[in-house]
Amino acid sequence: MSFFNYAVSKTIMHVPSPVVHHFAKDYVAGNDLDDAVRVCRELSAKGIESTLDILGEYITKKEQALPFKQDCIDILETIHRDKLDANLSVKPSQMGLLMDYDFAFNNLRDIVARAAELNGFVRIDMEDIECNEDTIKIYRILREEFPDHVGTALQSYMRNAMDHLELLGDGPINLRLVKGIFIVTRQQAWRDPELITRNYIQLLERMFELGAYVGIATHDERLYYEAQKLIKKFGLKREQYEFQMLLGVDPELRDLIVSEGHRLRVYIPYGKQWLGYSRRRLLENPNIARAALGQMLRGTGGR
Ligand SMILES: Cc1cc2nc3c(=O)[nH]c(=O)nc-3n(C[C@H](O)[C@H](O)[C@H](O)COP(=O)(O)OP(=O)(O)OC[C@H]3O[C@@H](n4cnc5c(N)ncnc54)[C@H](O)[C@@H]3O)c2cc1C
Repeated sequence: MSFFNYAVSKTIMHVPSPVVHHFAKDYVAGNDLDDAVRVCRELSAKGIESTLDILGEYITKKEQALPFKQDCIDILETIHRDKLDANLSVKPSQMGLLMDYDFAFNNLRDIVARAAELNGFVRIDMEDIECNEDTIKIYRILREEFPDHVGTALQSYMRNAMDHLELLGDGPINLRLVKGIFIVTRQQAWRDPELITRNYIQLLERMFELGAYVGIATHDERLYYEAQKLIKKFGLKREQYEFQMLLGVDPELRDLIVSEGHRLRVYIPYGKQWLGYSRRRLLENPNIARAALGQMLRGTGGR
């Protein structure tokens, strides 16, 4: 790790928010749903689908969950009304999971039920270790009731990811597969990037064996290559899987994936609470901070 990257990782939580905003603005559509819809339409014109996410997580009072729940329902209704190529991503901690399981479950159920009424889809993001087991549990219950309208995510850095996948093998499976972004202990998660990548490939293969619909969420070119091999091996049709990427990350790879005939969905976060999300993105890739700093010093910043 270079000194610059090390410095970013040690100081990111103390960096003033205007500075983080400058570094991270490419990752967030804007403050309002209209901003997310605009980005969604721009992507749609290029044949790219979206998943919309209202930023805000780890709430500390139950009352905070209710406006977020309403935002999620507004997103679903906007997607339906405006016929957008999009679905919704939602964070369980935003619905109060860390305070009260039943409260969060009911909020998520209301959102997924509305999605089902509108023939939409809700992806429940996978957050850190405290949310892990409960998120799987909630997904298992909701997929019984709404099999075509809900999915969740698995993280290949987790040592127990394969166990969770096997547990889900007793019903229809719709999963986003990611490496994992949260800070976790070594007892819980692999540290070695090579192991995380190998586990990703093993999980993807097992998901295809189980007949899962998978959102292959990565910007790692090697994983794109390995996924293509597995798609061929299982003879999958275009509508049986999709690739997923984050807004602002590697548009060149994004265009390549689309040009090779695959479905691609971009994760579009928006909202006023962009700080936590942006800090995670910078921590993940301090090279972005380096590039933005260069732009700022040269006075050439811009979207
Ligand atoms: C659509 C989507 C949804 C996600 N949902 C979740 C979730 O629910 N739970 C969860 O824990 N994690 C989630 N993640 C994050 C994920 O866990 C990884 O942290 C992230 O995708 C980076 O892993 P990678 O597979 O791209 O591989 P990496 O090896 O990290 O990256 C591959 C290449 O992409 C570049 N790159 C990666 N990230 C960035 C970035 N932020 N900025 C610029 N370049 C970058 C790297 O520099 C490298 O060149 C999601 C990711 C995506 C794409």
